[in-house]
Amino acid sequence: MGLIVQKFGGSSVADAAKVLNVAKIVTDTYRAGNDVVVVVSAQGDTTDDLIAKANEINPAASKREMDMLMTAGEQISISLLAMAIESLGFPVVSLLGWQAGFNTSSAYGSARIKKIENDRLRAELDRHNIVVVAGFQGINKYDDVTTLGRGGSDTSAVAIAAAMHADRCQIYTDVEGVFTADPRKVSHAKKLKEITYDEMLELATLGAQVLNNRSVEMAKKYNVEIEVRSSIQKDVPGTIVKEVAKMEKMLIRGVTKDTDVARISVKNISNNPGEAFKMFAKLAQKKINVDIILQSVGRNNTKDITFTVSKANAQDAVAAILDTFDMDESDIVCDTEVAKISIVGAGMESHPGTASKMFEALYEHNINIDMISTSEIKISVLIPLKDADKAVSAVHDAFYPA
Ligand code: ADP
Ligand code: ASP
Ligand code: MG
Repeated sequence: MGLIVQKFGGSSVADAAKVLNVAKIVTDTYRAGNDVVVVVSAQGDTTDDLIAKANEINPAASKREMDMLMTAGEQISISLLAMAIESLGFPVVSLLGWQAGFNTSSAYGSARIKKIENDRLRAELDRHNIVVVAGFQGINKYDDVTTLGRGGSDTSAVAIAAAMHADRCQIYTDVEGVFTADPRKVSHAKKLKEITYDEMLELATLGAQVLNNRSVEMAKKYNVEIEVRSSIQKDVPGTIVKEVAKMEKMLIRGVTKDTDVARISVKNISNNPGEAFKMFAKLAQKKINVDIILQSVGRNNTKDITFTVSKANAQDAVAAILDTFDMDESDIVCDTEVAKISIVGAGMESHPGTASKMFEALYEHNINIDMISTSEIKISVLIPLKDADKAVSAVHDAFYPA
């Protein structure tokens, strides 16, 4: 018995039957004597649908109005879930982000949670209500609603668990936990019993959608253990994300795919000191995040620099380079038909041969590597987008033969 935070993603509340299924999980937890705070996302594809509606009217809509629109998705699901809980005869109240005390930075579309003023949450729990909170949203200093970035409901749940010192933080989703690869793409992917914050943070950042990376960052900061589990297979244990995890004799914890990547190649940069600095300073000034960087020798005392950014930043990055150098547009090539495949595992640093095993798997499937980047706990390669799913399977099979 204690305080349990339960988060349900969009697919877990996609239709009436699923909302009732969630109401059952929540009320079973409450009936067992726990205080329960529930965080929900918008139903199914609601957020995507809302964005599509906006694009029909104004593809360049302001971020403030986009947030005003997107927060509506979670308002629908909290009220429907609260109605389902009422129908089962339990006391319940639904709260929007601002009512639940989510104070955020002012950055519409990617706001950060600054503080949760949890008096209202506490008061509702003291009244023995089940509290259903809208994920993904808060309010900024201008009293405007904000969103936390796509997949942000996971962060809302971890933030409540941290602010209220919850005894458990459960993230319910449409798979049974965190797997060694996306279980929808790799049928023999293995479920992990446990994983460390650092490994999960890498997996989430490198494309494993199952947890939002900011939620993992926050869980690590406030030492909130996360349990990822299925809202459908109720009695199946999920995956625990925590500081120290048992290794289960696995070298690699997971293989991920990130298709939100664009590669930009800049040719014929004069081979003088400071040129790379000038270019990346300009990109930083435009708040464009650069990922993998490669520099190579060009012709006639020039050099080429290639780097990757997210697809949304590609055009701005090209403009920033044209701003920096007096060069021809034809010297810049922007390729969005690329994907980043990564392997993650804390043990790989002390295991020579990990990289070669990954590269061999790709070579055997005739997949060409464009760029490589490594850290102590991950190796990433950039490959053609068309080969992405094949590459994930090939690399996964090399480390976990079926
Ligand atoms: P929710 O709607 O519950 O927030 P998401 O769609 O955001 O769910 O995340 C769950 C999805 O993440 C799964 O359906 C699965 O396809 C995908 N996924 C990608 N990589 C992994 C992984 N390594 N382990 C588990 N799921 C993964
Ligand atoms: N509904 C939001 C999204 O689709 C938040 C979330 O699902 O966590 O991104
Ligand atoms: Mg999600």
